[in-house]
Amino acid sequence: MASAVIIDGKAKAAELSESIARDAAALLASDNLRPGLAVVIVGEDPASQVYVRNKKRTAENCGFHSVQHTLAPDTSQQDLLALIDELNNDKKIHGILVQLPLPRHIDELAVTQAITPRKDVDGFHFLNIGKLTAGHSSDAFVPCTPAGCMLMIEDQLGKDLSGLNAVIIGRSNIVGKPMASLLLQANATVTICHSRTKDLKNVARRADILVAAVGRANMVSGDWIKPGATVIDVGINRVEIEVDGTKKSRLTGDVDFASAVQVAGAITPVPGGVGPMTIMMLMSNTLASARQAVSRD
Ligand code: NAD
Repeated sequence: MASAVIIDGKAKAAELSESIARDAAALLASDNLRPGLAVVIVGEDPASQVYVRNKKRTAENCGFHSVQHTLAPDTSQQDLLALIDELNNDKKIHGILVQLPLPRHIDELAVTQAITPRKDVDGFHFLNIGKLTAGHSSDAFVPCTPAGCMLMIEDQLGKDLSGLNAVIIGRSNIVGKPMASLLLQANATVTICHSRTKDLKNVARRADILVAAVGRANMVSGDWIKPGATVIDVGINRVEIEVDGTKKSRLTGDVDFASAVQVAGAITPVPGGVGPMTIMMLMSNTLASARQAVSRD
C-alpha cells in the first residue's frame, strides 16, 4: 500500500538551528551584537512552562542572549505592561515573547499590542498582521507556526503554489488566518474552514495542501484526504492510551496519522513535525530583528 513521505520537522529544525547559530556568530563578530530573546511567563501552567523552557534552551543553543521572566500568577496587568515597556527599551533584547494563555485577569490583547512591533517576534501586533495580510510578509514578523508550516510546504511543492487548492481547518489569529495569507501570497487557491463549515470532509478532500489547526485529536482521517496531498498537522492534543494495562498520556495531532499516511503524498508527524519548526521560526525572527537593529543604529 502507498505510504506518504514523512516530513521530518525535527531534522529540518536542527539544520536551521545550525545556520541561525552561524549567522548569530557572524553578527557578533561583525557588529558585536548578540541577538537577545526575552520570554515572559505569568503563572504556573505546566504546558506553558515546558514551551518556555524549550524556547530558552533553543535560544541558548543558537548563541543568543536569552532571558526568562517568570511572574507570579497574581501579577497585575499594570506590572506586566511595565515589564514589557522595560524590554521594549532594552537594547540587548530584540525579541519579546509573552507566553499565552495569560491568567484571566489580564487582557491578552492589551499585552500583545504593548510589545513594540520591532520586537514582536510572535507576529501578533496589528502592524505585523496588517503587513502580512497586505502581502508585505518580507517586511513583517510572521507568526512562527504558519511560517514553519510554509517552509515545509515549500520543501515539498516549491515556492509557487499556482493552481493548487489549499484548505486550512481552523481560523485562529495565531495559525489559521496567517497561514491563509502566506498560502495566498504563494498563489495557492485558499479555503479557510472552521467550526461552522458544512460538509468539512468533502471540502478537505479537494485540498492539494491540507493544514489542520483545530485541537481535536485524530479528527482528519484518511478518507478526508485527496490522494497525494501534502498534509500539515498543526494540532497538539494530549490523549490517554493504555499500554500493557497502564494508562499513559501521549501527544497526537488533529490528523489520524495511521490512515492519513496511506493516502497523502507527504505528511508531518506529531510530535516531530510542526512543533520544532515553530520554535526555530522564533529564533529566525529574533535574528532578523537583531539585524534590523544593527541597520537602524
Ligand atoms: P484555536 O482554538 O484558537 O482555534 C481552533 C480553530 O478550530 C477555530 O478556528 C475553530 O473554528 C476550529 N474548529 C473547532 N472545532 C472545529 C470543528 N469541529 N470543525 C472545524 N473546525 C473546528 O486553536 P489554535 O491556537 O489555532 O491551535 C489549534 C491547534 O494547533 C491546537 O491543538 C494547538 O495546540 C495547536 N498549535 C500547535 C502549535 C505548534 O507549534 N505545533 C502552535 C500553535 C497551535
